[in-house]
Amino acid sequence: MKTLHVVTLALVLGSVGSFGLFVLQGRLAEEPGGLIAARLPEAREPPPGAGAGEPGVQNEKQENPGETMSVSEQSKRVISRSAYDITPLSKERVAELASKLDEETYRITQRAGTEPPFCGMLLDNKKEGVYCCVVCGLPLFSSEHKFTSGTGWPSFYREFDRQHVSRKADRSHGMVRTEINCARCGAHLGHVFDDGPKPTGERHCLNSASLVFYEKGKDLPAESRPIKTETAYFAGGCFWGIEHYFQKGPGVIDAVSGYMQGRTEKPTYKEVCTKDTGHAETVKVVFDPTQISYRRLLEAFFVMHDPTQWNRQGPDVGSQYRSGIWYTSEEQRAAAEEFIRQLQDSGKVKGRIVTQLEKAETFWEAEEYHQDYIANTGRACHVKNPW
Ligand SMILES: [Zn+2]
Repeated sequence: MKTLHVVTLALVLGSVGSFGLFVLQGRLAEEPGGLIAARLPEAREPPPGAGAGEPGVQNEKQENPGETMSVSEQSKRVISRSAYDITPLSKERVAELASKLDEETYRITQRAGTEPPFCGMLLDNKKEGVYCCVVCGLPLFSSEHKFTSGTGWPSFYREFDRQHVSRKADRSHGMVRTEINCARCGAHLGHVFDDGPKPTGERHCLNSASLVFYEKGKDLPAESRPIKTETAYFAGGCFWGIEHYFQKGPGVIDAVSGYMQGRTEKPTYKEVCTKDTGHAETVKVVFDPTQISYRRLLEAFFVMHDPTQWNRQGPDVGSQYRSGIWYTSEEQRAAAEEFIRQLQDSGKVKGRIVTQLEKAETFWEAEEYHQDYIANTGRACHVKNPW
């Protein structure tokens, strides 16, 4: 969930046979897993340029997405798993945006400066809303995660989206700290320490000057809004492998494992398996319709599973493993119906297609350990790579 999607753009996997060896990349644990800098006091005023250009040793996995891509892929658009365009801005574009900043904001965001404590405009802000980058507008933090740290700087225990804030080692002033920056424009934001509250234990120490606050309900500027996305739901047996490969689809923003079309609320994995709740293991696919079509997702879905098996997929038997498409619009319903008819008529599928086609009901997200299961565990998966 909600992690580095960028590497999916870089994936060009060869054909993967059953239980074949394949490379697992791109899906990183949601919780910040990297080393956090030693607990040291926030510096009052690093010299201009301090910390800039340091290699990222603290959280290599979460470095600026642009740095993990090859040159040929640099031009591709990078979308975060919360559906924001986080393609790194060019130096020229950053310079253009930064030229509009006042002197103090420029010093802090472009020269890794620090504002005096207890002076920032957003320190005591208790309103509900989102904190965006003052330079490029990307949402960076949410009021939901703000807490009073007593340090004199606005503090958050987590980012709005882990991919929106990059980290790098800052060894200035004889200390080892982790500097945080806007992942899209590189603006200096502050530092992150490991003395924050639960559930992350992190304290993101921010300069008010690096942020612009938008109260909930107010219109956001275009640069602070997510891209337009569409959602599709597919049930094709055990969700681990189906989620794994959907996440790799070009134009797929996020794939999430869960349960749908059952009779109970908030079902657990155990209930779905043992109590005949009627739910099907389902993968929610959030995608960018300008990059990938619903029909392409349908094609992938029918490569990944056997639509002729009734209430099972291979060794997994039970109605929770049934084949199903849960549509979210009349267009999706019509497209799926036509696709199934064409596939049946083509003769490529031996036997009758038993895939159910139903209007999507509530999607219940599966337990955390089911998310990114294949990527996190490195387990082999018999689902065929459809891309
Ligand atoms: Zn920014």
